[in-house]
Amino acid sequence: MIENLNLISEGKAKSLYETSETSELLMVYRDDTSAFDGKKKEALKGKGEINNKFNAFIMEYLANNGVETHFLKLIQENKSLVRKLDMLPVECVVRNIATGSLCRRLGVEEGIKFEDPLFEFFLKDDDLGDPLINDNHITAFGWGTEQEISKMKEITFKINHLLCELFKKVGLILVDYKVEYGRSNGSLMLGDEFTPDGCRIWDAETGESLDKDRFRKDLGDVVESYQIVAHKLGISL
Ligand code: 5GP
Repeated sequence: MIENLNLISEGKAKSLYETSETSELLMVYRDDTSAFDGKKKEALKGKGEINNKFNAFIMEYLANNGVETHFLKLIQENKSLVRKLDMLPVECVVRNIATGSLCRRLGVEEGIKFEDPLFEFFLKDDDLGDPLINDNHITAFGWGTEQEISKMKEITFKINHLLCELFKKVGLILVDYKVEYGRSNGSLMLGDEFTPDGCRIWDAETGESLDKDRFRKDLGDVVESYQIVAHKLGISL
């Protein structure tokens, strides 16, 4: 099937193909896993399939709760159909607990819980190491409008509220995550993916990392941890 389709882009963990519908794309989740701007790489068997199903579950949950997304449907174990978007070159990160690049950048203590979640924009540019940017950079360089900035913040905080509640119910803490947005017919909607590759999830009781930090920090059992999270959320794999 894929052999006949044109490859549009190949990211570190996903490939995007054109389909016979000009407004739709095929998103293929691969087993490839990378960290530190691609310096550490490995293929983790079964990860593509889990992430595809995990993403479908989260996207459908968000859509059912009023968040417009590009997700259309899961069509095969590691493939989903999505609406074609004109992506903004920015990453939106929300943090509920301080860890990761925030602590390295500001020298702040790990584990500080924020009463109000913290929002950050990063420029999507591997060569520059995805630098932190602010609202003014986005408008000054034409990466997005003021209205789009407001909408990205509003939707990203709404996602945080919805997913923190969802994860809490099954004994998980959503520590932080990254989402991306794109335009379709002038309106902004959630694109890319929401999987354990792009968020931090801790076990509420033990504090154990159940996300890509397992790969980044060589903690072992990466795919197995994604399976544990999926199982807790009731995602059938
Ligand atoms: P940090 O800035 O601490 O490295 O990451 C904050 C959150 O955003 C983490 O949950 C991390 O997984 C996610 N994140 C940040 N940048 C990227 C990226 O380029 N790709 C992916 N998949 N996730 C990212």
